[in-house]
Amino acid sequence: MAKKQFKAESKRLLEMMINSIYTHREVFLRELISNASDAIDKIYYKALTDDALSFDKDSYFIKVIPDKENRTLKIIDTGIGMTKEELETNLGTIAKSGSLAFKKETELKDGYDIIGQFGVGFYAAFMVADLVTVTSKSLGSEEAYKWESTGAEGYTIETVEKDSVGTEITLTIKENTEDENYDEFLEEYRLKSIIKKYSDFIRYPIKMDVSGRRPKEGTENEFEEYVEEQIINSMVPIWRKNKSELTDEDYENFYAEKRYGFDKPIKHIHISVDGTIRYNAILYIPEKTPFDFYSKEFEKGLELYSNGVLIMDKCADLLPDHFSFVKGMVDSEDLSLNISREMLQHDRQLKLISKNINKKIKSELQSLLNNEREKYEEFYKSFGRQLKYGVYSEFGANKEVLQDLIMFYSSKEKKLVTLDEYVSRMPEDQKYIYYASGESIERIDKLPQAEFVSEKGYEILYFTEDIDEFAVKMLMNYKEKEFKSISSGDLGIEGEENKSESESEEKESKEIFDYMKNILADKVKDVRVSKRLKSHPVCLATEGDISIEMEKILAAMPDNQNIKADKVLEINKNHEVFQSLKEAFENDKEKLDLYTKLLYNQALLIEGLPIQDPVEFTNDICKIMV
Ligand code: ADP
Repeated sequence: MAKKQFKAESKRLLEMMINSIYTHREVFLRELISNASDAIDKIYYKALTDDALSFDKDSYFIKVIPDKENRTLKIIDTGIGMTKEELETNLGTIAKSGSLAFKKETELKDGYDIIGQFGVGFYAAFMVADLVTVTSKSLGSEEAYKWESTGAEGYTIETVEKDSVGTEITLTIKENTEDENYDEFLEEYRLKSIIKKYSDFIRYPIKMDVSGRRPKEGTENEFEEYVEEQIINSMVPIWRKNKSELTDEDYENFYAEKRYGFDKPIKHIHISVDGTIRYNAILYIPEKTPFDFYSKEFEKGLELYSNGVLIMDKCADLLPDHFSFVKGMVDSEDLSLNISREMLQHDRQLKLISKNINKKIKSELQSLLNNEREKYEEFYKSFGRQLKYGVYSEFGANKEVLQDLIMFYSSKEKKLVTLDEYVSRMPEDQKYIYYASGESIERIDKLPQAEFVSEKGYEILYFTEDIDEFAVKMLMNYKEKEFKSISSGDLGIEGEENKSESESEEKESKEIFDYMKNILADKVKDVRVSKRLKSHPVCLATEGDISIEMEKILAAMPDNQNIKADKVLEINKNHEVFQSLKEAFENDKEKLDLYTKLLYNQALLIEGLPIQDPVEFTNDICKIMV
């Protein structure tokens, strides 16, 4: 059976394409400039193999000329141009890419890759123009031609005069409508910023006549208008340069120019990979937390370039959440772009790059920690919380990567220490990594629960951020040492049962504590003799997984489920207060009721927990004063 050809309504197809491929209309300029750059590249490649041709880089350029009066925008290039046939096939056929064919013919290898491949970019012009005129003179040809189209209605071609080789594209910019503003594409500053954004690293100069006002020479208060041809793009992508050619200042300038941040980065990481996937990347560890960093508004991501042309300004897939503070860019010639060149067709390459990058970030942070401690601590103050979130999130999937990067304030060192440092100096008899939770270092310093552990000579890590305890719960242990709160029921310290009590003593205090427990029935799980208190009379300890700090954090969450820690009121038997309890137990039960409530409320205050009835509490204090 004879095969029939599909028919496409090219008019409809063109309309669909123009209106549905791109999310941002401004990319039309990126597409036309990329074509112009490709056209110049083609002369460069021809010159490589054709002795009769020489390529003098300085005589090649792209020029963008807006003309508000005539509502036109011209994009001129000194590239290879197009013959009449090429105008017909390349611009007259949708999805025909002369550039792709050229690439195949010349078997381009060299890092200089041609950008075009889909044969659709040119039509992006119709997003902003209702008439597109292309005049072109091909290299080695005597004639020049004019191709003209209003988009849907087809095109015309005729002979014209043109002196120099190259292409001139004139867009007649659409009139504004009620909802759409097209005037912006005639504004000098807007065009400059679009060029900077997408085409900053096009290898050839992109020129514009820029107008301004400046003080007139030799006068004091007189100004003059001027028009001056300027090069808008920076041309040389610093990531393609050799690391040895670049100074710290170059990297810092790039950071500032690209507005990755307003601070000075703590560290830059320059990566050039030439393996299964080729890419260059320049990454930065910022110094200061961006104001919106810990908010929902913050968007992580790196800039993604394909051959020096910006594809995405925040490619989130390149960074895991725990490294979301990293800024910078990735450029690769191996990405399989989707047709709009705003997305990738598949993410295999991206996954590879991301994996690679993340290993590198981790090792650079580790080396910063090992070799430039002060800088690392500065970094940690800004972003340590994010690393700890990273340990906790995804059910601890990244804890191995992150556990050596996190730090906590140490009771002994009075500064931030790593878990490795902590464990490596643990005395032999110490079984656990001890930590204490609280609002601030000052507050934890005063926690009565810390006395025993400290006196034992053990170091305590201070947990002052919400995430801390959750993170170590996820870690469970570090180098086989489990974490233990100094408020936990069993401290795991030998010698806790220091003073042996006589049986009668034990029986007596049990009776008192049982009585007190009854009074506090709905508030505490138990009342006990404390083994950890030295000079303070009372404290709260917890049993089970939920600590008091966790209870506070959970209570502050929007979907608070009223989860409570299992609290135990601990009494110091060596404190004088215990004598008063004993006396009251024997002689005045009403007094014991009062003392019990007072001690419990004091313990709450020490922990920073709210007292249920503050008025009753102050009245109770008054009762013992009078
Ligand atoms: P692509 O750039 O993806 O190939 P386009 O639709 O943008 O697709 O362009 C189609 C073809 O037209 C290009 O491949 C190229 O051969 C030709 N072309 C477009 N613009 C120019 C130009 N300024 N100079 C020379 N050739 C051009």
